[in-house]
Amino acid sequence: MSGTYDIHGQTAVITLNNPPVNGLSHDLRTRIVAGVQAALAAPGIQSIVLIGSSRAFSGGADIREFNLPIGLAEPNLPQVIDVVESSAKPIIAAISGVCMGGGLELALGCHYRIALADALIALPEVKLGVLPGAGGTQRLPRLLNPEIALGMIVTGEASPAAKFKGTALFDQIVDGDLLAAALQFAADLASAPKPLLRTRDLPVLKVEPSVFAQVSTKLLAGIQPGYPAPAKCVEAVRAALDLPFLEGLRREQELFHELVETSASKALRHAFFAERAATKLASVAESTQARPIKQVGIIGAGTMGSGIAMNFLNAGIAIVMLEIKADALERGVATIRKTYDSAVKKGKLKPVELEQRLSLLRATTDYADLAAADLIIEAVFEDLSIKEQVFRKLDQVAKPGAILASNTSTLDLNVLAAVTKRPEDVIGLHFFSPAHLMKLLEVVRGAKTADDVLVTAMALAKKIKKTAVVSGVCDGFIGNRMIAPYSQQAIQLLEEGCTPSQVDQALEAWGMAMGPFRMGDLAGNDIGWAIRKHQRLTVPDPEYPRIPDRLCEMGRYGQKTGAGWYRYEAGSRDALVDPVVLDLITAYRAEKGIKTRAISDAEIVERCIYALYQEGTRILDEGIAQRASDIDLVYLCGYGFPLHRGGPMFYAEAVGLAAVAQRVASFYAQSGDPLWRPVTEAPVRKSSRGGESVKAETRRSTEF
Ligand code: NAD
Repeated sequence: MSGTYDIHGQTAVITLNNPPVNGLSHDLRTRIVAGVQAALAAPGIQSIVLIGSSRAFSGGADIREFNLPIGLAEPNLPQVIDVVESSAKPIIAAISGVCMGGGLELALGCHYRIALADALIALPEVKLGVLPGAGGTQRLPRLLNPEIALGMIVTGEASPAAKFKGTALFDQIVDGDLLAAALQFAADLASAPKPLLRTRDLPVLKVEPSVFAQVSTKLLAGIQPGYPAPAKCVEAVRAALDLPFLEGLRREQELFHELVETSASKALRHAFFAERAATKLASVAESTQARPIKQVGIIGAGTMGSGIAMNFLNAGIAIVMLEIKADALERGVATIRKTYDSAVKKGKLKPVELEQRLSLLRATTDYADLAAADLIIEAVFEDLSIKEQVFRKLDQVAKPGAILASNTSTLDLNVLAAVTKRPEDVIGLHFFSPAHLMKLLEVVRGAKTADDVLVTAMALAKKIKKTAVVSGVCDGFIGNRMIAPYSQQAIQLLEEGCTPSQVDQALEAWGMAMGPFRMGDLAGNDIGWAIRKHQRLTVPDPEYPRIPDRLCEMGRYGQKTGAGWYRYEAGSRDALVDPVVLDLITAYRAEKGIKTRAISDAEIVERCIYALYQEGTRILDEGIAQRASDIDLVYLCGYGFPLHRGGPMFYAEAVGLAAVAQRVASFYAQSGDPLWRPVTEAPVRKSSRGGESVKAETRRSTEF
C-alpha cells in the first residue's frame, strides 16, 4: 500500500509509503486525496499530518510513471495540492529525508511544515531541463525571500532544512521523533486554533526589483548556451512577483510546457534515464549476489594506479598498492598525498579526513601482500607481455574468489583472462584519466567473466561514485573505439582545407567540452602515434593520413612538450595557433596534390558527430554495448559530449535517422570511406529511448 491512514487521538496521520523515495505515483496521489477527504468527513478529527519515511518525505514524481499516461492521470499533483491546501482542517507536513521536486511542492501546499534539521530540501527540476510545474515557483517566494527561492529553483541544489530555520518555510525544525513532534504540533494547534495559513493567499515576500534583477543576472551568468530552463525559471519566479497567484500558476504551466518540448530537456531526461538503465545487466539474474570487497590491490602506481587508488580510499576501502620498483612506489604515494594536500588547502577536505584516507593505504613491492585482497586491479604499462606476466603472478597469489581486473585501454581482456586458471574471475575496469575525478568507468565483460563478478563491479562502481557502463571486448571498447573514426574525420578535414583551430572551434561552439586537437594535445599525441605504428605493422596501409605522424616526428606530443597541434607558453594551457603546424599541413596537401575547399562549421560537426554515431551503431549491432543509451552515457560522462545534446545516438535520433542516413550516404558517395557505409536504424530507435536490452532486436534487424 503506497499510503496509509491512521488515527492518533484527534489527528489523522497519512503516511506516504512508496519506497524507495515515496515517489508521487498515481496510487499514492489517490491515497493522499482519499486520506484528506476521510479526515475532513470524520467529526472527531481536528488536524491532519502528512509524513513520509526516514529516507524521504517524498522525492517527487515517481520515475516509474515518467512518460506514461498514469503519471499525469487524475488526481494529478496540482489537483492533490489543491485538495490539501483547500482543506478546512489544518494539514501539517512532517518532513524527513529527501523532500524534493513535487514532494516539496506538496509540502508547500500544506498549512504547516515541520522538519528534521538534516532533511534535504530542493526543487531540482531545472536539472532535467524543466521547472517546478506544480506551483513551486509561485509558492516558494511566498515563504522564502524571492531571491533565495530563485536561487533554489535556478540551481536545483539541495540544502538541509536547518538552513531555513527562522523563515516561513518551516514552522519548526525538530530533533528526534518526527511523528511525536508533529502530533504535539497538531495538539497545540487544536488547543489554540489559528486561522489556516494557505500559502496561495500569502503575499510574495518583499524584494527590491534591482536586487532581484542582480541576483537573476548572476545566476544566469554561468549558464552555457543550449540550456533554456534557468532563464524560464527566472521568468516563472518573476511572474510570482508580478501576478496574482492563479495567473502566476498559469504562467508557470505555460513555461513548463514550453520547456518540456525543448530538445535540451528531452536530452537531459534521456541522460537521467540512461544512467538508471546502465545499471541493468542483460542476461544476468537479478538475484545474483555481489562478492564482498573489503580490500583492493592495485598493481602499478603510475598516473592511473594512483588515481584509481584514491577512489577507493575516498570510499573508505583499504588499498594495497604494488610497484615493481621502490622509487616508482614512492612517487605514486607522493602523488596521492599531494592531491589530498591540495584538497585540504582548498578547504575541500579536512586534515583528519586526509589522515583517515592515507591510513587505509599500504604500499608494497611484494606480491605476497596481495593475498588478502578481494579485488586486484592491474594498471601497469600498456604492454601485453608485461600484463600477461602480472596476471600469471596474480593467479598464483590471489585468494580463491578474488576478482582480477585490468585497466587496459586497448588490449584483449580475453587473452589476459586466458593466462589464468580462473578466467571467470577476470574483468576489465577501464577508468578514465584523471581517474579520481572522471565519472565514467567502462566495465569490460570478458567472454568468460562470471555474472557475480560483473554484479560486484557494478555495485563497487556505485560505491566509488562512478557511472559504470558495461562493454564487451573489442578494440578500444565503447568509448575509444568510437573516438577513432571521430579523430580520423578531424584529420581528414585538415587535409581537405580546415585548420585545427577551425575544427576545434566548430565542435566547441556546438557544445563539445574540447575539440579533438586540443584534446589530443592534452592527452598526448604520442599515445595515438604508438598505436598507429603498431597497427601499420599488422595492417599496412600506404594511404593512411600522415599529418599526425609528422607532428609527432617533430616531437610535438602536446602540452607536455610545450607544442602539439598548438603551441603553449611555459606554464600555460592556452592553445595558441602555430604557423609551423599550418605550414606542415599545407606542405602535406601540396605533396599529395590535394585541392582544398571551404568547409562549413556545420559540415565539421556532421562529419565528426555522425562518425561517432556510425561506429556506435556498429557497436550496438555487435552486442558490444547493451543499449544505445549506454553509448550515450559513455560520451556524456567520459568524452565531454554536451549534456543538452543527449549523446551521439540520441542526437542522431533527435536530428532524425532518415536525415542522418542521407548525409551519411552523401559522405559515402564522396569518399568511399567504409565508415560511411549504411548502418541499421531500427535498433537505435528502439534502444535509446527505453534503455532496455536490445540485443535481441538488434540481431533480428541486422538479419535483413
Ligand atoms: P604509467 O606509465 O603512468 O604507470 C604504469 C606504472 O606501472 C609505472 O609506475 C610502472 O613502474 C608500473 N609497472 C610497470 N610494470 C610493472 C609490473 N610488472 N609490476 C608492477 N608495476 C609495474 O601508465 P598509466 O598511464 O598509469 O597507464 C596504466 C594502464 O592504464 C595502461 O594499461 C593504460 O593503457 C591504462 N589507461 C591509461 C589511461 C591514461 O590516460 N593514462 C587511461 C585509461 C587507461
